[in-house]
Formats: sequence, C-alpha cells, structure tokens
Amino acid sequence: MFTDTHCHLTDEYCSGNELEHVLARAGNAGVTRMICATADPKDIAPSIKIAEKYNNVFVTTGIHPEYAGTVPDTYLTNDVLSHFKVIGIGEIGLDYHENNNNRDAQIKLFEQQLEIAREHKLPVAIHTRDADEDTAAIARDVCGVMHCFTSSWQLAKVMLDRGFFFSASGILTFKNATDVRETFAKIPTNRIVIETDAPYCAPVPYRGKTCEPFMVTETAKVLAEIKNLQINELASILEQNTLNLYPKIKQQI
Ligand SMILES: [Zn+2]
Repeated sequence: MFTDTHCHLTDEYCSGNELEHVLARAGNAGVTRMICATADPKDIAPSIKIAEKYNNVFVTTGIHPEYAGTVPDTYLTNDVLSHFKVIGIGEIGLDYHENNNNRDAQIKLFEQQLEIAREHKLPVAIHTRDADEDTAAIARDVCGVMHCFTSSWQLAKVMLDRGFFFSASGILTFKNATDVRETFAKIPTNRIVIETDAPYCAPVPYRGKTCEPFMVTETAKVLAEIKNLQINELASILEQNTLNLYPKIKQQI
C-alpha cells in the first residue's frame, strides 16, 4: 500500500539476517515497496544485489555530497545505470551544513551526476541542506524528487515549476517542524511522495530509535491530516505519484 521512496538498506541495521526482518516488518505494516538509495560508492553493488533478490526493492544510485572529492571516476558504470532495478540517480546534491569548506568539490560531483541523469534520462533524488541557492541554480533540465524536503517554500516554488516531486520524511511528524508541515500543506498533493530515510530521522512515536521502512506509515498519517484525506485515499494518490516520479517501476508492474 505504501512505498518508502528513500531508505538505506545497506546500513548496519540491515546486516546479516536483519534485512529479512526489516522487510517483513515493512510488509506487515503495509509498506509494500522500498526504494534503496545509495550514498557511499561502496553501497552501490550491495544495494543492487538486494534489489535483485527482492521484487519489491528498487534502487536509486548516486553519491552523497559528503563523499565529494574522494570518489573514483568509475562509480556509475553503464551496467549499473542500465540495470532494470536502478530507477534513478540519488542521493546527490549539496550539503553546506555538514561541510562548508568543499563547496567546489560538492558542486562538481553534483553537476557530474546531474549530467549522467540527463544522458540516461533518469530522475534524480536531491539532498539539499543549507544550499538552496546553489541547488536551484544547478539542478536544471532534470526531473526528480527533493528528498527529505525541509527547505524553504521559496525553493519549493522554484522546483515545483521544474516539475519536481517533494518527499516528506519522519521530520513531518516532529513537534517543532511546523514550518515543514506548512510547506507540505502548500505543495500540491499530486507532487508528494513519502520516505523514511532509514536509518535516520525516525518519526514520532519512534524518535530516537533506529528508523526502519515500516515507520513511513507515521509520516503518511500526518500527511493525511495535513491534506484532509482518508489514509486510503492518500495511499492511492502517493502510489500514482511514485509511479509518475519513477517510470521504470511502472514498466515492471
Ligand atoms: Zn538518504
């Protein structure tokens, strides 16, 4: 019923047999599809392996800005990019909050990956933190999703005009995230998807715990309230949005 459109399934909490349990808990909660995002070049091969094993796991593959300047040139091969389970490029972007001293390297890596997305006609999953202006200036002539969106309405407007989707994470449920809820109230419902970003940002009432894909239902509940929709109505809209965002999934169902 729900897709967790952005989670990391190669982290510690999924190691060994744990992955089976994580996927089972997701299924039991009605989270029937997961999109595993890569951040570190080392995540790419294991993520694809998981997606090959499980029908309901797909992959977006890209390098997070925290690895800017340390990435080998061959991180995204044609084999990876044309893999049937690789549905987008992400997570990619700019993060001046974590590191403000390597902006040039971050921009270079971001631009390279946007170019790959354009060449391969794949949507992008963008991470942006304290970098709204540069993100808006650079992310042109591509489509995709602003992942774990917490930036300003101003950036939302710019990216809405470019056809982007916006992903609500567990942050939507945080008591102090009034501004994020206000932003999502204004974003048209047909441009929203949901995610956990597991293992990060566990929603209320799981705050402080390791986040898992099953918890995306808590974000859905809050979003349903914001949009004044029944949870089932919201689920079918989100499903349509997910398929519109990631056409390669649609080809496989
Ligand atoms: Zn992430």
